[in-house]
Amino acid sequence: MRIAAVDIYTVDLLLAEPFRHASSGLIDRLAEVVVRVETSDGAVGWGEVRGNAHYVTGETPGRIVALLRELLVPRLLTSTADTPAGHARVMAAALPGASSARAVLDIAIHDAAARALGLPLRALLGGPAGATKVHVHGTIPFCPPEIAAERARTYLEQGILTMKVRLGLPDFADDLARLAAVAEAVAGTDTVIATDVNQGWTPKEALAKARRLEVDRLGFALAWLEQPVPAGATEALKALRESVALPVYADESCGTPQDLLRLIEARAVDGVHLKLCKAGGIGQLHAMTAIAEAAGLPYLIGQMDEGMLATAAALAVASATNPLSCELWGFQRVAAQPFSGIAMIDGDMDLPAAPGLGIAVDETGLMHVARLEAVRA
Ligand SMILES: [Mg+2]
Repeated sequence: MRIAAVDIYTVDLLLAEPFRHASSGLIDRLAEVVVRVETSDGAVGWGEVRGNAHYVTGETPGRIVALLRELLVPRLLTSTADTPAGHARVMAAALPGASSARAVLDIAIHDAAARALGLPLRALLGGPAGATKVHVHGTIPFCPPEIAAERARTYLEQGILTMKVRLGLPDFADDLARLAAVAEAVAGTDTVIATDVNQGWTPKEALAKARRLEVDRLGFALAWLEQPVPAGATEALKALRESVALPVYADESCGTPQDLLRLIEARAVDGVHLKLCKAGGIGQLHAMTAIAEAAGLPYLIGQMDEGMLATAAALAVASATNPLSCELWGFQRVAAQPFSGIAMIDGDMDLPAAPGLGIAVDETGLMHVARLEAVRA
């Protein structure tokens, strides 16, 4: 299964409800890069990654497209690799880092490989072959407490019983008021409440604020506190974990398998949030779930608010592994999209038994940027 041709596309998916958290700035659209891969045996696969997740990946749509055109696709087209793992190794050797650019091609190659076998991708990864469901948790953005309570009640009506509240506003009292409003809205139910600071606190702030979030001060137990400090602050994560009775999770600190190993070695976290666009591809993400399990760390599988192709790829890994919870939002919040195949019903992602990622793509809804083909005798 050598790579015969790659088409590169972009598409802006406008969000019905723009969002902002401690490190994102205002996000009003999902600026996606999409690829279509053709293999030497006639299989076709699609991949997608969000380009404007620069605050985590350091990449932009234009940069991803340039890396695909100038480096990654030419390498794949001239490579003798003929398996998804082989193609992933070629890309990793050609371009260390640039995890989104590698992930979008890797997703498409896996889609093509699974379609060629007539299997859903999740079955290829060890998951169920038939139609199945994956439960997701909901997130509550920066907003007034009454809006947060309304969002929590809506999630409850949808059957979503884990809710993650974004923290990190300049005035901590606003964060606490939003948390309290959510807790009150779900009182008497089995709802689990977690938090994510998206790197918003300094190590000293984190220590003081996390103490306010312990069960005796807050009045209810938080399931986890995600990425309270900047990505590189491993020592601060460790110090916090040792100082407060609250599970400390890493997201932005934990991109690659190497990052995960460093966090485990430092005993810096109680859990991790794993994503394809950080890991660089499906094989890498799958490997990280195994490493986390071996270390006894619970893991979340999530994404950067992306479209349906990227979501389907994360779901394939999630349904073949054992995540504590999944954070897979994006396509549910865009007004119109060129993808179809999965739906969210009562807090569950409903996954069809269709081969590959199971997503149909309307090419007329995408902007074609380039086509590169192999030249072979
Ligand atoms: Mg996070």
